[in-house]
Amino acid sequence: MGAPEAFTQTTHVGHWIAGVPVASAGARMQPVWNPSTGQVARQVLLASADDVAVAVAAARAAQPAWGDTPPIRRARVLNNFLALMNQHRDTLAAMITAEHGKVFTDAVGEVSRGIDIVEFACGVPQLLKGDYTDQVSTGIDNWTLRQPLGVVAGITPFNFPCMVPCWMFPVALACGNAFILKPSERDPSPSLFMAELLKQAGLPDGVFSVVQGDKVAVDALLTHPDVKALSFVGSTAIAQTIYETGAHHGKRVQALGGAKNHMVVMPDADIGQAVDALIGSAYGSAGERCMAISVAVLVGDVGERIVPLLAERARALKIRNGMELDAEMGPIVTREARDRIEKYIGLGVEEGATLVVDGRGCKVPGFEGGFFTGGTLFDHATPQMRIYQEEIFGPVLVCVRVKDFAAALQLVNDHEYGNGVACFTSDGGLAREFARRVQVGMVGINVPIPVPMAWHGFGGWKRSLFGDMHAYGEEGVRFYTRQKSVMQRWPDSIAKGAEFVMPTAK
Ligand code: NAD
Repeated sequence: MGAPEAFTQTTHVGHWIAGVPVASAGARMQPVWNPSTGQVARQVLLASADDVAVAVAAARAAQPAWGDTPPIRRARVLNNFLALMNQHRDTLAAMITAEHGKVFTDAVGEVSRGIDIVEFACGVPQLLKGDYTDQVSTGIDNWTLRQPLGVVAGITPFNFPCMVPCWMFPVALACGNAFILKPSERDPSPSLFMAELLKQAGLPDGVFSVVQGDKVAVDALLTHPDVKALSFVGSTAIAQTIYETGAHHGKRVQALGGAKNHMVVMPDADIGQAVDALIGSAYGSAGERCMAISVAVLVGDVGERIVPLLAERARALKIRNGMELDAEMGPIVTREARDRIEKYIGLGVEEGATLVVDGRGCKVPGFEGGFFTGGTLFDHATPQMRIYQEEIFGPVLVCVRVKDFAAALQLVNDHEYGNGVACFTSDGGLAREFARRVQVGMVGINVPIPVPMAWHGFGGWKRSLFGDMHAYGEEGVRFYTRQKSVMQRWPDSIAKGAEFVMPTAK
């Protein structure tokens, strides 16, 4: 791979409504930082409730024709979009690195996982096929079909500014809805770029809109009567509020929340593989992934063997500006987030965990103003500690030692979050037992970050997801459509006379 070009354009990031960029005069604004330099790179507009109303009106006007467009023609637009996403993959990745801070190679991976969902959505004619029963009664047939909901919205977090929106809008659009995206205000540029690509792909104006903003925009979407469904991904407290408020306003809601993902390492695991897995999944993307491993559950004598190896690797992490191709970890998204993470490290020391590697105060030569922190490793944490219980969302790996498999499983199952989990072992029977018994939505056996592929669907359990359906995959298609059942007979088969009893098959 040649040296990628950094994203430096634009001074302001606005909305995308009715197929054009929109920048309302006198709007509230917020700085977007370059986390590597610690400088403000541009300003993002924050939508008012009126801006949201304009976007919803445009979406409502455009949706009926789009919903009536044959699925195969909708799929062709998505196919064009797929080609454009592949063509501009590195441009999108550079935008992500510029505003999020994650390393460019990881950002390319993020875009690729987003592209997977677009590919899945291109198969929508097959996914929307209904069920048909011939002759449910003499001369009567019954079938079910799935129809779009109308205008739907997505509210997304900062940590995957391309992939998480792609969990939502390709499927929603393929199903015939109009979609309004409210991206994170911390890294807003990729959303606008994807809106432009959708237009180039032939998507009619108004079918996809972007409103930049904060709580004001979210509240407007949550209460707008023309928004029929909301997909949310973000922290648990807000996910729960979105779920409750959205439901109160009669909307269908899926709200994915935070996580504290455990990786159980059994004494019979390949320790070298377990070290690689823990280092990559705890410190990749600086731990700012909802599927990052933040707790290592070390069973039996594993702690003695693995902690020194983890410490050596955590100290050797290549922490750089994310555009450097050999960087393994970039900066944290904002100064506040970095300070919050480092406060947790202080708390862990106060709580009595053993601080094996301290990432605080990390300085990267040439990027002294950047929001960097190093990889941190704690050992001998206990379930009573806040560093064990709470989501830190940074490069902090907390090791808990337990005596056996039963204690490890209990620990995982007692945690309030249930997003992802992994078990490293060479015992197939134990692995099977773990996968069956664990109270977590996404399970990896010798796979540290088991993010399901596009056609399987993504979602956690417990306080990691509010709602019934997972994101994307067939559950995504169900979420963005509603089922209709049609029963039909023709005049020549209609029995004579009114029927006053419950009809049964004749
Ligand atoms: P966040 O909850 O702060 O923000 C998410 C979205 O909600 C953003 O668009 C933001 O503008 C909006 N928002 C923020 N405060 C709000 C408020 N008071 N009212 C209404 N809307 C509000 O999350 P974040 O910091 O952007 O992302 C990190 C979090 O997201 C972590 O907790 C992480 O675990 C979680 N996450 C979960 C998944 C998952 O699949 N479960 C995936 C990615 C991220």
